[in-house]
Amino acid sequence: MNIHEYQAKQVLKSFGVSVANGLPAFSVDEAVKAAQELGGPVWVVKSQIHAGGRGKGGGVKVVKSIDEVRSEAERMLGMTLVTHQTGPAGKVVNRIYVEEGSSIERELYLSVLVDRETSNVAFVASTEGGMNIEEVAEETPEKIITVHVDPTVGCMPYVGRKIAAALQLEGNQVKQCVKMVGQLYTAFTEKDMALLEINPLVVNGDGDLICLDAKMGFDGNALFRHKDIMELRDETEEDAKELEASKYDLSYITLDGEIGCMVNGAGLAMGTMDIIKLYGSEPANFLDVGGGATAEKVTAAFKIITSDANVKGILVNIFGGIMRCDVIAEGVITAVKEVGLKVPLVVRLEGTNVEQGQKIIDESGLNVISASNLDDAAKKIVQAVKEAA
Ligand code: GDP
Ligand code: MN
Repeated sequence: MNIHEYQAKQVLKSFGVSVANGLPAFSVDEAVKAAQELGGPVWVVKSQIHAGGRGKGGGVKVVKSIDEVRSEAERMLGMTLVTHQTGPAGKVVNRIYVEEGSSIERELYLSVLVDRETSNVAFVASTEGGMNIEEVAEETPEKIITVHVDPTVGCMPYVGRKIAAALQLEGNQVKQCVKMVGQLYTAFTEKDMALLEINPLVVNGDGDLICLDAKMGFDGNALFRHKDIMELRDETEEDAKELEASKYDLSYITLDGEIGCMVNGAGLAMGTMDIIKLYGSEPANFLDVGGGATAEKVTAAFKIITSDANVKGILVNIFGGIMRCDVIAEGVITAVKEVGLKVPLVVRLEGTNVEQGQKIIDESGLNVISASNLDDAAKKIVQAVKEAA
């Protein structure tokens, strides 16, 4: 789960990390009030969406008067911000952040992540912070350095000193860096973060280190023990179908293709997606209904698939082990009766109670194409979608 920049900065502040003062705003009036409260002479008005690249897309503006705060708030609130991270559809800005403006001497990059290769927490640092870090990674990767933290000893001061050296910091900044690295590590581990990215980390006009941007993501499997973080969830930022699926405890990921898949078991789901590709089409989603799914859960899953306008055909592929084929069949039929069926549907059932399942489908009077195995099923749905087009 990701949170907004202003929320991330509040979390960082609670660990003592140096960030500028700022206030969130949901309306133009609130933004003006926030600016007055913060006092000038410089403010930064920042669109709050769960994606980076806002600066280049016109979502971050440094301004020098309350009038400008007002006009930028008017412009940003409600606009669709398109950045290289949002995809072409962009994201609607529903909240903004008004912050005290900082003067910038240097823009650096610092992030914390879990390095899967070493199973350690790692800091990634670069002198080339700011809005082009992706290009730096591509063109001059030697300018990005990684420092691992040994979990048995924790984040010792030498980690911070290594990073300070890599960032070419001097004098008091080294001390500030060592302290900040320790605080970031504590925040990262205590809150079970998956990613913490400070870009830019700046040396300001006074020569002090301060976090100017913050991107924070959390390990979903650990959220149950962080009620305070869970409250920061912004559901409007999440894929509506994935959100609905999570309510039913379904593993669902939206993809770009045209064939909706309902499958049980992650491995079979992956295999089904592969074979759809093999026959020249693309899956519209990954969906694992799980082992012990109820008819209600299957109904919900089927509805989520049919609500996707990109879905031009549906493939139900179930191997009933723990999952019973008749439960799947009932769920599918219930869903179709409620929401209708506007696209071809291929069903392949195998395993426990397959005869009852097949019977339920045959007697439903629905226009369902039956398939005998996975290969046959994939071929049939790709063919049916082609013919319907
Ligand atoms: P992002 O583009 O989504 O990563 O948004 P950032 O928060 O990183 O802001 C983009 C850029 O705006 C930064 O790289 C800075 O150059 C600039 N910026 C942000 N805050 C300030 C500020 O307080 N003062 C000044 N002068 N520039 C800022
Ligand atoms: Mn940034």
